[in-house]
Amino acid sequence: MFGDGNFWTTYAFLTAIIIARYFMIAGFFHYYLWLRPAEKVKATRLTRHEPTKATIRHEIIMSTISAFIYAAPAAWVMVMWENGGTALYTEVDGILGWLYIPISILIFLFANDAFFYWTHRAMHHPRLYNLMHRTHHKSKQPTPWAAFSFHPTEALLESWLLPVMAIFIPIHVGAALFVLMAMTVTSVTNHAGWEILPRSWVKGWIGDNIISATHHNMHHTKFNGNYGLHFRLWDKLMGTDIMEPVKK
Ligand SMILES: [Zn+2]
Ligand SMILES: [Zn+2]
Repeated sequence: MFGDGNFWTTYAFLTAIIIARYFMIAGFFHYYLWLRPAEKVKATRLTRHEPTKATIRHEIIMSTISAFIYAAPAAWVMVMWENGGTALYTEVDGILGWLYIPISILIFLFANDAFFYWTHRAMHHPRLYNLMHRTHHKSKQPTPWAAFSFHPTEALLESWLLPVMAIFIPIHVGAALFVLMAMTVTSVTNHAGWEILPRSWVKGWIGDNIISATHHNMHHTKFNGNYGLHFRLWDKLMGTDIMEPVKK
């Protein structure tokens, strides 16, 4: 598709796309939520803590380094795809083909969520925490820039699952792009420091099952619990869900 099957050209292209996408989405939410007068913002501030300039600088530097890491397995799979060696496809075949698209998206999101939950929990073990995960928790009050703010070892650990899945589990290229885009947006919004979802959504089915900024911010302020990425399923199953009861 691009890069003419050359790994390094594809890698450079993907790195540029990931960085550009990160700056556009995080930059937009930073402006919308933090740089305008608070009374104009149609969202709920989650804590009173003010993130420092040093925190934001740290988040941007670490997120940019993560982009260079995320692009590597993705570029490897793109090159494989050009040689016909993956389960990525472009043609949709009939009604079943269309039905499979949301199913494949859910398979990728649920697998990623389960992988993240268990690796994230493991990284809270003191032995791994200092080495791999302390970087992410430097943001006590994260901002949208914290979306990819991980130590390179953590970014590396989380970067390979989806590309490897795309070798074996059929997924339409558009669905794969949707998954990556949705993950960037939710990672930015879940670290935004503000809840952008309406209160009725957070109190309802969506907030009950899907991880929101309200949920993930508690991981940063309370530190233990709320290890999931997309869904509250594993936190609820394993008794690590610490969403404070929301009055219905
Ligand atoms: Zn953590
Ligand atoms: Zn976080």
